[in-house]
Amino acid sequence: MTSLVEPVSASPSDVLHRTFGFAGFRSNQEAVCMAAISGRDVLLVMPTGSGKSLCYQLPAVVRGGTALVISPLIALMEDQAAKLAALGLRVARIHSGMDRETSRDACREYLAGRLQFLFIAPERLRVPGFAEMLGKRKPNLIAIDEAHCISQWGHDFRPDYRLLGRSLSLLRPAPVIALTATATPVVQNDIAEQLEMKSGARFIHGFRRDNLAIEVVEVSKPRRAQFCAELLSLKERRPAIIYAPTRKEAETTAAELAESYPSAAYHAGLDAQVRERVQREFLSGRLEVVVATIAFGMGIDKADVRTVIHTALPASVEGYYQEIGRAGRDGLTSRTILMHSFADRRTHDFFYQRDYPELAVLDRIVRKLGRDARPADELRFDLDMDAEVFSKALEKLEAHGGVVIDFEGTVTKGERAWRDPYARQCQHRQTQIEKMLRFAEGGHCRMSMLVEHFGDDEDAGERCGLCDFCAPAEAIAQVFRPLDHREEDTVFAVVRALRPVQGMSTGKLHKQLFPNEQMERDEFEALLVAMARGGYASFEDAEFEKDGRTIAYRKVSLTDAGEEIESSTRLRLFLPDAGAESSAKGRSRGKGARSTERTPAAKKSAAPAAEVAYSPQEAELDKKLRAWRLDEAKKSGFPAFRIFGDKTLRGIVLERPRTLEDLLRVDGIGPEKASRFGESICALCSVSE
Ligand code: ADP
Ligand code: ZN
Repeated sequence: MTSLVEPVSASPSDVLHRTFGFAGFRSNQEAVCMAAISGRDVLLVMPTGSGKSLCYQLPAVVRGGTALVISPLIALMEDQAAKLAALGLRVARIHSGMDRETSRDACREYLAGRLQFLFIAPERLRVPGFAEMLGKRKPNLIAIDEAHCISQWGHDFRPDYRLLGRSLSLLRPAPVIALTATATPVVQNDIAEQLEMKSGARFIHGFRRDNLAIEVVEVSKPRRAQFCAELLSLKERRPAIIYAPTRKEAETTAAELAESYPSAAYHAGLDAQVRERVQREFLSGRLEVVVATIAFGMGIDKADVRTVIHTALPASVEGYYQEIGRAGRDGLTSRTILMHSFADRRTHDFFYQRDYPELAVLDRIVRKLGRDARPADELRFDLDMDAEVFSKALEKLEAHGGVVIDFEGTVTKGERAWRDPYARQCQHRQTQIEKMLRFAEGGHCRMSMLVEHFGDDEDAGERCGLCDFCAPAEAIAQVFRPLDHREEDTVFAVVRALRPVQGMSTGKLHKQLFPNEQMERDEFEALLVAMARGGYASFEDAEFEKDGRTIAYRKVSLTDAGEEIESSTRLRLFLPDAGAESSAKGRSRGKGARSTERTPAAKKSAAPAAEVAYSPQEAELDKKLRAWRLDEAKKSGFPAFRIFGDKTLRGIVLERPRTLEDLLRVDGIGPEKASRFGESICALCSVSE
């Protein structure tokens, strides 16, 4: 069958001018287009807004015939189809939002070869016979938008996308162009494998943003909302987006900020009208700050966002990158600030344990199920399993094909081997958390770390000159101070220890120099980062296998400059000032107001929590908690401090947790304590408002 849409004889740049009306290619676009035109499969990873669409649209026009475009978001599909139609191209689309007759017309047009672009939603491929119908007239190019959705390692896996791999064999030999704004090397490999892109070309570009000043700062949980308010008090730091981890926090933070400037919360729990209004008012500039959960930002194209703040450690570097990417679209320098503390790690551990039940739990379900089909509720009852654990485990089993659940909730045993894929997914999730933690730890230019994360190999890895690693003096969320004598001595000791070896794990080095924890591990790591910042040391991520598990660690080694340090060398090294968070106001006035005069000794003893005096309500809660702890100790036969120590108690008073999630953010409370005592503690905290 010949195509009615003939290939064009014009050159790609003619098509670029004439059909698309652009003066020239953006960087990277031309190479991608040439590969696709020549019939090669292409995996294209470039950030949102960088011009990916042209990279399948132009080759489609040049090659002639029909391009099949698979896109999971109806809104995006509608938008692209409308733009192409406006350029005078023949476009049709098929998705669930359209009536039957229109869809049938689209199929007819497609089969008659009269279309240049046919957009479909991936779930269409589930309709029996649909892929076969498309196969009757082979497309000349297949574009797969949001291609990370095909990978279960991607952060937005869609099971329907898995159907693609199978359908493609009916549609080949057209080249496949897979496009996404977010794919780590692991996800890239998975996409290529799923789509059988054997000899495909990969283009991974454009992740370096040269106008984002990235900062990461340790701030204890109870201080974060207030700290946001102070950071954004300067007008030029707004408009701003703040990402908060929970709906509740989004609301409380927004309420706090609203006292100073127009601010609102945005999350999936608000009704559509409210969300739409918030979005509109933020775009128009009436609202200056939006405090959002991850639900915010899709399709938000506000160019002048000056600051993006995260008030908790994000779940993955991919998600984090996308969110900070909303700052400074207009090209002007903008700031991103990530607040975290050690407690964030525990929150992630808690969510991990909740969301990824152990293999044994899944095994129990499958064993109990046997060969029969059984209603889910009945199965749970028989297993006597906690409802939440059961539903999570069942969800995972279903996702990996271990069980099949029908619409009525009847469960039957699945066909597929689910154990290995599930174990891999668990490992992957843990790696994501690890990577995020390592990003927060720092030790390299922040922007370079992000660029490397996405596998942008052509990037030279230069220091960005803006982040808190490259330009600590410019930081707005933290004050850097010179090292004290003890810290300088430690640097010399590190140099002596590293000189004879080719790098060492930071944990081992810490143990060697401080066998009795005379300097805490965190403090020591920060000192090593200071050495890296000064150009004396460098880090490398490494891993080893233990009991079949991969354990990641950091190796530190001396640079040439580090090798040359002598006891007479004047070190010009700086550490973030631990007491800084309580003096953010001073900093918001500008560089002149930096306080560096606090003595090191004062800093040592001044853990942020210990500096604040209790309010009368807090003192009251403190008393109640002590009484409760004593009671509990008597009941259980434990000494009181084993339930929790005074420092933790103080943390609870300041945090005043209402939910287990809040409680887990308190230093000294792990999942076990939370599940054992959490309810009583939260109850005490909520009565003493
Ligand atoms: P992405 O899909 O990567 O998010 P788009 O393809 O939507 O980005 O492109 C973003 C914007 O850039 C669009 O408005 C598009 O018209 C414009 N654009 C793309 N390529 C060019 C070009 N070569 N010259 C000028 N503008 C371009
Ligand atoms: Zn940098």
